[in-house]
Amino acid sequence: MNSQYQEIKPLKEYVTVLENKDNQARGEQIITALTELGLEPTFQKCRWPRIRNIIVDFTPEPYAKRILFTAHYDVVKGSPGANDNASGVAALIGLCHELKHQKVPVKIVFFDREEAWLRTPLIRLGLLGSLFYVLKNDMQIVSAVYNLEFCGLGDCLGIWPIHSEQEELPALRRVKTAALRLGLPYQTANISWILLSSDHMSFRIKGVRNALTLSLLPKDQADVLEFSLSKLSFLKLLTGQRSTLPKPLDIIHSSEDTSDNINESALRLMLSLLLELIPSYDLSGYLSPSGKDGKI
Ligand SMILES: [Zn+2]
Repeated sequence: MNSQYQEIKPLKEYVTVLENKDNQARGEQIITALTELGLEPTFQKCRWPRIRNIIVDFTPEPYAKRILFTAHYDVVKGSPGANDNASGVAALIGLCHELKHQKVPVKIVFFDREEAWLRTPLIRLGLLGSLFYVLKNDMQIVSAVYNLEFCGLGDCLGIWPIHSEQEELPALRRVKTAALRLGLPYQTANISWILLSSDHMSFRIKGVRNALTLSLLPKDQADVLEFSLSKLSFLKLLTGQRSTLPKPLDIIHSSEDTSDNINESALRLMLSLLLELIPSYDLSGYLSPSGKDGKI
């Protein structure tokens, strides 16, 4: 069938093909899925530490600013890695399907090696793929970064980590507006990086303030999240005492993170949000070769 008329696949299928596979095999599955869509990903590789980031860029030339949508595809050993983070990958492959015939200043990066490679009771070091990316790329051209984690279950958008001084960030305002337009309830959360982190952090370290992570959680669990966060203390975290996290965060990194817990409707909800978000960017300085095509 001509790829132009290809129907979008159920996004959950992308979760099940990644599930229970190691990092190398998960990367191969992403490349296969992108190739089936008629896209040619590029790679950012490092031999040591071994990293392979997979990139699809829809940005036309000449260009100025662009929006980055990212999700890590690697997995913690011993976990099937469905919600963390085959779900984020699936939503981004869905976005690739929707954008495949467009020239828009959107770049999609599937990050390798987000999960910790050094884990002790006190220290947890990961984010290698995204740190390598920010080290080797110009951050001046990045308007915003929306990183996806845990998108496979729930009907309430979690935007994190946001502390009180970040409430006015343009990236946050835009995603809230997009959620409102879809009737999607949202909650911001100020999650300590010691408890939970993700690839937004590498961009913030490099000075990109408009870098957020988007997740989904069931509405009735949003209050539980707020309660667990209020019970946190630095001392408790340092001594390994974690509050009970709400669903679906309670099963991440465990053998229970399977696709049985993933809903197609949640994955579609995240995809709808991303599609609603893109046109809210008036990326100044962006010039379309034809003068009108691809203007967003
Ligand atoms: Zn993750």
